[in-house]
Amino acid sequence: AEVVEDQDRDQGKWTLLRNVNQALKPTTILAGDYVWMDLKTGREFDVPIGAVVKLCDSGQIQVVDDEGNEHWISPQNASHIKPMHPTSIHGVEDMIRLGDLNEAGILRNLLIRYREHLIYTYTGSILVAVNPYQLLPIYSPEQIRLYTNKKIGEMPPHIFAIADNCYFNMQRNNKDQCCIISGESGAGKTESTKLILQFLAAISGQHSWIEQQVLEANPILEAFGNAKTIRNDNSSRFGKYIDIHFNKRGAIEGAKIEQYLLEKSRVCRQAQDERNYHVFYCMLRGMTMEQKKKLGLGKATDYNYLAMGNCTTCDGRDDSKEYANIRSAMKVLMFTDTENWEISKLLAAILHMGNLQYEARTYDNLDACEVVQSASLITAASLLEVSVSTVVDPQDVMNCLTSRTIITRGETVSTPLSMEQALDVRDAFVKGIYGRLFVWIVEKINAAIYRPPSQELKSVRRSIGLLDIFGFENFTVNSFEQLCINFANENLQQFFVRHVFKLEQEEYNLENINWQHIEFTDNQDALDMIAIKPMNIISLIDEESKFPKGTDATMLHKLNSQHKLNTNYIPPKNNYETQFGINHFAGIVYYETKGFLEKNRDTLHGDIIQLVHSSKNKFIKQIFQADVAMGAETRKRSPTLSSQFKRSLELLMRTLSVCQPFFVRCIKPNEYKKPMIFSPSFS
Ligand code: ATP
Ligand code: MG
Repeated sequence: AEVVEDQDRDQGKWTLLRNVNQALKPTTILAGDYVWMDLKTGREFDVPIGAVVKLCDSGQIQVVDDEGNEHWISPQNASHIKPMHPTSIHGVEDMIRLGDLNEAGILRNLLIRYREHLIYTYTGSILVAVNPYQLLPIYSPEQIRLYTNKKIGEMPPHIFAIADNCYFNMQRNNKDQCCIISGESGAGKTESTKLILQFLAAISGQHSWIEQQVLEANPILEAFGNAKTIRNDNSSRFGKYIDIHFNKRGAIEGAKIEQYLLEKSRVCRQAQDERNYHVFYCMLRGMTMEQKKKLGLGKATDYNYLAMGNCTTCDGRDDSKEYANIRSAMKVLMFTDTENWEISKLLAAILHMGNLQYEARTYDNLDACEVVQSASLITAASLLEVSVSTVVDPQDVMNCLTSRTIITRGETVSTPLSMEQALDVRDAFVKGIYGRLFVWIVEKINAAIYRPPSQELKSVRRSIGLLDIFGFENFTVNSFEQLCINFANENLQQFFVRHVFKLEQEEYNLENINWQHIEFTDNQDALDMIAIKPMNIISLIDEESKFPKGTDATMLHKLNSQHKLNTNYIPPKNNYETQFGINHFAGIVYYETKGFLEKNRDTLHGDIIQLVHSSKNKFIKQIFQADVAMGAETRKRSPTLSSQFKRSLELLMRTLSVCQPFFVRCIKPNEYKKPMIFSPSFS
């Protein structure tokens, strides 16, 4: 067999050797023949496009490309045309079988299948899913039955086939399984996760209470953790790993949810055409007048935190109906009416805080400010139940939002905050509340669905984990969050490459192919530099975050002096530049260091914690419990965001490494959130 090299640019930098059918080289081209046409446009994304020959006369030939455009090709441009391998003409279910196994071949295969509503395609055992943006009739109970207990490839590619294989592999091999679902925002990760869950619930077949509880966790998580963005009307702004537990008969007996890095900044800021978290809009549409009155609430457009994206509704979403769904899901997950009300109070307090008005002042020649007395202030203070005496006193909120207590040489000094600083303190408080609320909610859900295994059960309990996590990000401006997200993706990429490579080797062994000369490069070097070797980027950022005099600039300086010679590091071009670059597996990303340390420290100043401590609101005290218990000094030394994230990522990778993995690669076909449009040059 002829062996050629195939380099998969998108998936990383390893080199695989594959058997390829003999290339077809017809000497003549006839009307009706399929060809590859290389337009050589010179644009960034430039791969040959498929075309069919319409007319062939002695001089020129006329072809119609896959997008319906006609072209005349003259003999001197004959080199632009190549015959198409028969496997590419009508497409294949498993792309390993493509004769033209290259970018153009893969792209066309997905395209022609997509046009026939065939959104799923295999590459070996990896499932590629192209978002249909419409409800296809392929998820019925009948389909579930058809896919039950079948080998991959026995039926047409389907997400159910992956779920089915997870399940039966778990049973057969008595080994935990995991499914890693990747893809950019809007590609369909969360929907795929839900479909797998739906299949597993159906196949485990108990219709039990716990099964329903596991399913109903999703609407709650989505209400508090998803939002409308430009890319996706239901974008998950956190990562999650759902581990579903099965007893020895294969019935669901519980689950555990792990969440990663909720985007807290969204509570205070949204870009144009984006929204805050769904729950706020749902609450305002779905609550009774009476409830709203108690919380002093109006409509979404009344609140700065909800209206700044100029978009308070979302086509195709019924916020009022959603609210009913959230409430009923919360009932199923054992949230009490009191807890629900307490959550609503905090959400309302956040909205009122966002409407506070500030006035600049000068105080002893210092920039200072004041919160204007207003209904928002009074309602926020009463919802947060903050007071020194028994009466609620808005003044307390005001003071701690506009000044800062510093203890120097045993003396307590109160310094005023400038308007800008005060707004930052307010937003930090709000983000602190929402972030802790989200963590509390996930814990509450886990309390309902997670049962720690008893010792004797440990050996028989098996699990399937579903990872629905943010994909690689490279925006115009990238910050600390993107560094964390891309760090997670480097880890997953390595996991993927190693697994695929191992599979490939096993297959070669089976076919007795000599593979000794196979070389493959994974992304170990980049990972070493980011988080593993001594003085890695994360540890330097952390060290600087704890150093009292550390600033974003001193941090960047340290990164430069440590890594400037590393090929995976791109130092700033001059002393003024505040960004550095990392050569990730998926491309170079530049990170803007402004705000890095602050985000990494992720601490609230002592006055805010004090305010919470003095509150009569038991719920807010509960979600801040750990902070209040710590005391000022310990708080300063509490783990930074990156070290927490690194730790949870290590745990995740350890869990994944003992599972048999499956991969689902979701693809977004266009940027309009519309069905039946597949733009090859997009993304
Ligand atoms: P993000 O990273 O922003 O969370 P995501 O990859 O999780 O994105 P989803 O929310 O799963 O993306 O999908 C976006 C939208 O695409 C869904 O709200 C739904 O409208 C549509 N969609 C995705 N998968 C399917 C499917 N299999 N069938 C029908 N519609 C789908
Ligand atoms: Mg999602």
